[in-house]
Amino acid sequence: MTEQTQRIAIAGAGLLGRLLAWRLLRRGHAVTLFEAGALAQPAAAAHTAAGMIAPLSEAVEGGASVYEMGMAALALWPDWLRELHEQSGEAVACQHNGSLIVAHPQDSAELLQFHSDLRHTLADRGRFHWLDGAGIEAHEPDLSGQFQQGLLLEDEAHIDNRHLLRALLQVIRTQRADCRENCAVELQPGAVSINSGQREEFDLVVDCRGVGAKRQWPGLRGVRGEVLAVQTPEVTLQRPVRLMHPRYQLYVVPKANHCFVIGATQIESEDRGPVTLRSNLELGSALYTLNPAFAEARVVELKANLRPALLDNLPRVQHRQGLISANGLYRHGYLLAPVVIGHILALIEGGALPFADALGMEQVA
Ligand SMILES: Cc1cc2nc3c(=O)[nH]c(=O)nc-3n(C[C@H](O)[C@H](O)[C@H](O)COP(=O)(O)OP(=O)(O)OC[C@H]3O[C@@H](n4cnc5c(N)ncnc54)[C@H](O)[C@@H]3O)c2cc1C
Repeated sequence: MTEQTQRIAIAGAGLLGRLLAWRLLRRGHAVTLFEAGALAQPAAAAHTAAGMIAPLSEAVEGGASVYEMGMAALALWPDWLRELHEQSGEAVACQHNGSLIVAHPQDSAELLQFHSDLRHTLADRGRFHWLDGAGIEAHEPDLSGQFQQGLLLEDEAHIDNRHLLRALLQVIRTQRADCRENCAVELQPGAVSINSGQREEFDLVVDCRGVGAKRQWPGLRGVRGEVLAVQTPEVTLQRPVRLMHPRYQLYVVPKANHCFVIGATQIESEDRGPVTLRSNLELGSALYTLNPAFAEARVVELKANLRPALLDNLPRVQHRQGLISANGLYRHGYLLAPVVIGHILALIEGGALPFADALGMEQVA
């Protein structure tokens, strides 16, 4: 190792942990990755997620900083995926086709409110515009006749997130990271305690444990989200479609092999138990109203997980000697991870801290 390279432990092999391990290995650091669960079948929220990179949609609730960080991350993803492809041979799909927001006529007030909130949050920024029925049909032929009005948000993308997680694991292993699975850890500055209490020392420890870091983050909570995945060759969508509704907002994200992920409930509960009948019915019936052909789709998965959220639902990075902790990515893991990782790398190696005001701990309530 050179003088600048360090022995770094990362706790948690979800989205942040895998991305960070990969970026650190590229810079020559020696990485040990500890994961409480199995690496091939991740317990991480990242594995349950739909994989939308949605800076405009998420800004409506998250505010202008989510938009600014999300746009910066959206610009980084193509380069990162190209580098990952070169290194691993794995071409992870990330389609930048925008998103479509629709509502049935009886719920059009919800769509108008969303548009008004978007304009208010973004001021004159962001590329989004109205489509009429013919415009919707031109963009998404399989929604033909279902909607008279929709909003096309051009600056949005969706990534094949499970392929990303697999490709990252492969490249991390090839780069000879020390990967320890089924290995829950507790952390101190410069040291990791493994299940049995055995202690290992490192130059630096980075905490990427998501909801598993509750004891380190006062106010950290899990927000339950449930998703349904179906498969049908009868329907094709080019982009994520969000359906506005007075009680819930659901989305359908197209995946490879004619699969679709429908999500997600948002429940203030840390219950990781199976998807409820009510949620299953709500997700399924919303899907059916997009195109009746979904009625014959095969259900391939029902899954629930916890989004790691801080009090204001925004991410933070905490730094003290020997220990960096990043958490609170909430609904925005894929949307914001590249900028959060960029911030962590700057803390480790020096240089200007990207989004220091938004991600720095001074902001914590
Ligand atoms: C239903 C749902 C849909 C979502 N959809 C999207 C979306 O479309 N777009 C988007 O941007 N975001 C989405 N998200 C959010 C995204 O998944 C999270 O923000 C992201 O995964 C957080 O990354 P993380 O690395 O902090 O945590 P995680 O991905 O949860 O990873 C944490 C890891 O730490 C491990 N761990 C926990 N405790 C320990 C311990 N003691 N020792 C070792 N390891 C430990 C866990 O097993 C896990 O593997 C969604 C989330 C859910 C639940």
